[in-house]
Amino acid sequence: MDNNNQCRAVKRDGNRCTNRTKFGHFCGRHLPTPRKDRSTLAKIGKGIKTLTEIAVVAGAAIKLVEKVVEVWQSLPFGPAPRMPRDYDYLVAQLGPIYPNMPDRYRPFSKGPDSVDWQRARQIYDTSKALLSALEAGTGTPETLAPQFAQLDRVTTELFDSMQEPLQRMLYEQIGREPEDDDNSTEMA
Ligand SMILES: [Zn+2]
Repeated sequence: MDNNNQCRAVKRDGNRCTNRTKFGHFCGRHLPTPRKDRSTLAKIGKGIKTLTEIAVVAGAAIKLVEKVVEVWQSLPFGPAPRMPRDYDYLVAQLGPIYPNMPDRYRPFSKGPDSVDWQRARQIYDTSKALLSALEAGTGTPETLAPQFAQLDRVTTELFDSMQEPLQRMLYEQIGREPEDDDNSTEMA
């Protein structure tokens, strides 16, 4: 398989997931879709597969941003004294996050700019806009396609712009979650 099309999540056994990517760098199984939102999101789609997928992926993209904030906050240096406004915005939007301390740390230079917070905010805002359009019934697969494609692209760029140790920590954190739930999150 082309390396670029292989999911980057790292499974519990330490091996990288071999599924193909569905969104950003992740397969449908490893997109961290919020469990509580699944039935609601399914209803929004009203059986139109593409709209359902857009809704599920937009919800998952918000969870990805939350993961980025969570992992960043869990790093052992404490918050930097002055963070970019986009970071503060995301923390205010997402509410309190209680990070799990990672199993092990990999040294890298943590600074406000080690995550592209502007891109992270763009992912969050675009996902919210997509969900609003779906809730309002104003979106069709065709009209939402450009925003959706942009969301996919920016998510890939966000992960690619990170230092490798931070990337690796995120891929491990994301790969860890849906193991108890193998079938329901796969979007075939
Ligand atoms: Zn995967």
